[in-house]
Amino acid sequence: MSAKFQHHKLIILGSGPAGLTAAIYAARAILNPVVVSGREAGGQLMITTDVENYPGFPEGIQGPEMMDLLKAQAARFGTEFFSGDVVEVDFSQRPFKLFLENNDTLTCDSLIISTGASARWLGMDSEKKYSGKGVSACATCDGFFFRDQNVAVVGGGDTALEEALYLANICKSVTLIHRRDEFRGSKIMQKRAIDHEKISIFWDTVVEEVVGNPKDGMTSLKVRNVKTEKVTEHPLTGMFVAIGHIPNTGLFKDKLNLNENGYVKVTPGTTYTSVEGVFASGDVQDHVYRQAVTAAGTGCMAAIDAERWLAEQVG
Ligand code: NDP
Repeated sequence: MSAKFQHHKLIILGSGPAGLTAAIYAARAILNPVVVSGREAGGQLMITTDVENYPGFPEGIQGPEMMDLLKAQAARFGTEFFSGDVVEVDFSQRPFKLFLENNDTLTCDSLIISTGASARWLGMDSEKKYSGKGVSACATCDGFFFRDQNVAVVGGGDTALEEALYLANICKSVTLIHRRDEFRGSKIMQKRAIDHEKISIFWDTVVEEVVGNPKDGMTSLKVRNVKTEKVTEHPLTGMFVAIGHIPNTGLFKDKLNLNENGYVKVTPGTTYTSVEGVFASGDVQDHVYRQAVTAAGTGCMAAIDAERWLAEQVG
């Protein structure tokens, strides 16, 4: 589909579970939605292997395969797909304007933002090499694959503490690795983690290298104490990186109300943002649950909110 200037009733930004579920509902409501996929089409599930916690797949499903199915389901009801990065938005008047990197412009009466969030990584080559083979950024998603194993969690915020406590129920042991001598997370979570018999803590410590081999994946972790500079290696088969997420909201700064962590603010219990006609679903507005199924759930809500809102505009 070539753009130049095109107008649509509803545009959905993002093609993860939230965006595609919004598309399925909007297409079936005959809103002829257009999904703008962006560069990371399919979202975070494209870098996941087995998804075993999405209802309806008793044997599990590969992340990319699930996204193909969701896309096919959205296409079946007439969703159009547009690939290209939006570089600027104008919400100052309706129709809203979306400017694409190739200089084309899309306009729309209503917009659903489902641009997701990205896990923050440590940035080492070995971390990338063993991603999905020992290295993960989601304990709820992948913890089960590490049952009865010795794993590490990196970070000192609430996410790291929560992931460590979650993994302590599943794994043989959890080593929390934090770069300072004090956690950033809430006092109650700190106490729970410190008191837990299966959790041990490496303070003032950073990860140097994920060690492994092609057959077994990750087999150990090299860490460095930043005070003593001593490097040690520990037999661990999993590393959960929990150093924060970055919501993909750079485009919406000063255009929409965002919370202090940069997530889109929605009216509680709805997907309404601070701009009438703009809705938000999925991880871009949720730093708490961050699951494919909750993203899909809010995608459905956004389509219903947009449909009702559009109907009211016509009268
Ligand atoms: P935070 O930004 O709160 O914490 C990130 C942690 O990762 C910090 O301890 C930080 O260390 C560490 N870190 C950051 N970058 C690096 C790096 N490059 N190398 C090593 N360590 C690094 O992120 P969270 O995801 O934990 O939490 C985000 C928000 O969500 C917070 O407001 C949190 O309270 C909230 N949240 C609430 C929950 C709940 O209420 N149940 C659950 C989860 C999150 P340092 O401390 O040294 O900066």
